[in-house]
Amino acid sequence: MNWFRHSPLYTLLSWLVWPAVFCGGLIGTWFAFQSEWHLFWFNVVYLSTIAVLALFERLMPYEQTWNARDGETWNDVAHTLLNKGSVQIAAAIGTSAPMAVATVAQPSFEAPFHIWPDSWPMFFQIVLGLIIAEAGLYAAHRIAHEKMALWRFHALHHSVERLWVVNTGRFHLFDSLFKIALSQIPLYLIGAPLPVFLWTGAVTAFIGLLTHCNIDVRTGPLDYVFSTPRLHRWHHSKKLSEGNTNYGENLALWDLVLGTYHNPPRPSPTNIGISGKVADTFFGQLIQPFSNKGFREIMGRRPPATTPGAAPGAVSAGPILPQAPSPASEPAE
Ligand SMILES: [Zn+2]
Ligand SMILES: [Zn+2]
Repeated sequence: MNWFRHSPLYTLLSWLVWPAVFCGGLIGTWFAFQSEWHLFWFNVVYLSTIAVLALFERLMPYEQTWNARDGETWNDVAHTLLNKGSVQIAAAIGTSAPMAVATVAQPSFEAPFHIWPDSWPMFFQIVLGLIIAEAGLYAAHRIAHEKMALWRFHALHHSVERLWVVNTGRFHLFDSLFKIALSQIPLYLIGAPLPVFLWTGAVTAFIGLLTHCNIDVRTGPLDYVFSTPRLHRWHHSKKLSEGNTNYGENLALWDLVLGTYHNPPRPSPTNIGISGKVADTFFGQLIQPFSNKGFREIMGRRPPATTPGAAPGAVSAGPILPQAPSPASEPAE
């Protein structure tokens, strides 16, 4: 396939894939939203988009070795399904969950501070909805990196050592709930209409797939508008100075405004992951953040008893940094 990699067709595709998949997803969503079964058809569009991205991951991978199996595929799929399934019952997780909740809740919700500009054209209302939701997503994501009480949940997302479309949904349930709460509640409070909830949900779904796909896409100026695969690979870097940047979920806006934007002119990293270790099984990963032992594993610290000089029950000394390579790290498997 070397000839393909150096052909003009490859270059053309590398520029086209991101905008074409994003716009294709949104056009499909527009048709889905015209129908009575709007969430069903949205999910059909969403799954079709995954299939298209999986195909391009084979055809033009950013990192060839990430296509190899790492034993985590079914855990990634299980986290994705749990997110979506439990939402319908509990309240709002995963990709179409906030949309499902909004479909039921928004029409009967009395906004206490109705300042929403209902008279604006819908396109601009959706852009406004995205910017407001993004402020919550940015805050939730940044706090999850800076506060250990939340990093213990978010670490699951960063524990993968390759990025591909399947680990888009690999978020701990609590991590997802926190993010959804901060991004959705403000929209309810100020009276955003249902289409704004549905369209922000759709945009988040497609950008999420695209940011994690292992496709050699070129995004150029789009890196200053959207959260692209290139920006997000820096965010998954093992290097703390690179990883604690680019918190944007959909938009680069708040990273640019708040000084956490990182996009140096060199290829984005392929050395991704964390210094700690998450449990091997799906249920193990779900309960791991709730115990001290699990937290130590996530942080890459030895149990207190085996730390030379440490008092029983004490955690290891030194600054607590989410992704800092720690000398006390247990060897990775
Ligand atoms: Zn993160
Ligand atoms: Zn990610």
